[in-house]
Amino acid sequence: MDKTFHIVTFGCQMNVGDSDWLARALVSRGWRQVPEEDAWLFVVNTCSVRDKPEQKVYSELGRLAAFGRGKPGLTAAVGGCVAQQIGRGFFERFPFVRLVFGSDGIAGAPDALDQLAEDARARIALLDFLGTYPEREDVLTLSTKTPEPAFDVDAGEPEAVPDGHSAQAFVNIMQGCDNFCAYCIVPYTRGRQKSRSAEAVLAECRIRVEQGAREITLLGQNVNSYGLDAGGTGVGFAELLRRVAALPGLLRLRFTTSHPKDIDPAVIRAFGELENLCPALHLPLQAGSDEVLRRMGRKYDRARYLGIVEALRQARPDIALTTDLIVGFPGETEDDFAQTLEMMERVRFESSFSFRYSDRPGVASLRMSPKVPDEIGQERLLRLQSLQNVITKESLKALEGCEADVLLEAPSRRQDEGAQFWRGRDPGGRVVNVRMSGPRLPGAGGDAEASGLALCGRMVRARIVEAKNHSLLGEEVAPPW
Ligand code: SF4
Repeated sequence: MDKTFHIVTFGCQMNVGDSDWLARALVSRGWRQVPEEDAWLFVVNTCSVRDKPEQKVYSELGRLAAFGRGKPGLTAAVGGCVAQQIGRGFFERFPFVRLVFGSDGIAGAPDALDQLAEDARARIALLDFLGTYPEREDVLTLSTKTPEPAFDVDAGEPEAVPDGHSAQAFVNIMQGCDNFCAYCIVPYTRGRQKSRSAEAVLAECRIRVEQGAREITLLGQNVNSYGLDAGGTGVGFAELLRRVAALPGLLRLRFTTSHPKDIDPAVIRAFGELENLCPALHLPLQAGSDEVLRRMGRKYDRARYLGIVEALRQARPDIALTTDLIVGFPGETEDDFAQTLEMMERVRFESSFSFRYSDRPGVASLRMSPKVPDEIGQERLLRLQSLQNVITKESLKALEGCEADVLLEAPSRRQDEGAQFWRGRDPGGRVVNVRMSGPRLPGAGGDAEASGLALCGRMVRARIVEAKNHSLLGEEVAPPW
């Protein structure tokens, strides 16, 4: 049997990072990552934070079942939060699902998948929560092409997710969460917070830089409380940032996600002190009303949040702030919602992920009332998103005429005027489509693979010539390096 696999990823950057690690682990064991139509094994990495996650997974598995009909030995593995919740239930409903694994179980998934390939009758469940961070095997294989996530959760910004090219690496620093925000299912599906040792984080970062990573994103559900659990080794998040930032050859450092209640002044200062720490922070606000924040259990208020924003802008005036917002939380009044709009205006987030509240099983807000009617929640969401669109456009417009270093990720979809356009990101994490001034490379605009070998992972100095609705258009002003 040919060991081939294809991964479908839903959810946050944590899931994208997990999928990337699993893909590299399998490749290092002799598996091949292939397009869906050629795969023997399908891995579906799931998320349960937003609406109807089970239905999404069932529909994906149903699609695979239809797709795999007539394909002998169709095999799937389901990982992530929905796997943790439904567990062995997947075996009954979808006989071709032969492995389920939760966020702690993923460390054992490569062994389990090898076992499935050897034994056609094997079925394996890796669902136990562990007391300490389950260290995963070192994977020295270069990063693989990881699928874009299908949607986002309160754990970062999907637009900031790299393609999995080796120039951009994700490194997990912790797992789980202890916060139990009233609406959130993560502590139940990913377990309690477990920090990874600073030595292991640094060792992985060092390897990734040696392999060619120029940008590293440190990942955790709440990185600001890194090291404060039993797994901590006396190194806090600010110190970890300093140690990673000091790695020779690392051009860019990012992190996500950051809970406002735990942000340390030393982390804020780091934005002004560490040259390669990108001026970008995703800082979930969730709601603008103190009463709603209290009911959500977020443990900060408007004043504290605004104080953090002010300190961040003092440390790094060009910092790009993005956020997550929930509208229609139980009990949210029109006045509460107006305060969310007002916070959006005051902070001027460059972008935000906003969602209508939905009940998740087992969370505290399930029992809170009154629920906000759907049509009101929907109408508020549209108003919030309209305001965000205006602010986003104005923020991007203000960058016209400026210059920025852009880390190139892939050929841009835009390929016109006989020029070669490449998509990348500036230090603030904004998407920039850069018109390259060199000769058009073979394959650019058509064969992404061929042109991808040429410029992927290179940095280019670009002048911003036009702001689009959600991205920037730039022109190369100095050759890539
Ligand atoms: S901090 Fe709150 S919203 Fe974020 S993962 Fe933890 S419980 Fe969920």
